[in-house]
Amino acid sequence: MLQCTAVTLLPPDPVLRLTAPGADGSEDPEPYVLCELGEHDSTPTGPHTEHAAYLRPGRTPDSPALWFFWTGSGPERTQRAVSAPWCPAVLRRLDSGLVRRCALFDHHPVSHSWDVADPLGDLIAERLVSGDSPEG
Ligand SMILES: [Zn+2]
Ligand SMILES: [Zn+2]
Repeated sequence: MLQCTAVTLLPPDPVLRLTAPGADGSEDPEPYVLCELGEHDSTPTGPHTEHAAYLRPGRTPDSPALWFFWTGSGPERTQRAVSAPWCPAVLRRLDSGLVRRCALFDHHPVSHSWDVADPLGDLIAERLVSGDSPEG
């Protein structure tokens, strides 16, 4: 499935803006974040799924990472930045022995990260780790 195309401006919160990817540079950091979920319902009425953007890792690779969640736009918008544990799902490739960990938070909606095609070609939070090495 395609990636959700929602983009949002981070709120004027200096802490959040410092943590946004790419905000380290001194040159005009763009405080925008992209939803990293697969396409999902986000209708302004009725139940909807929050958009989610990865902000920064936790203290260790397995620690909960900071995510920014939002719904709607304009006066209807709600937003929050919370630490969320990683999705425990892994995709094990038998040919290469690589284990690909889902790059989304636990209990995320829709597909795992490897089923989401990113039309922009920049997967921010993709994590590739070596698989278990064979015994011996
Ligand atoms: Zn979204
Ligand atoms: Zn997942």
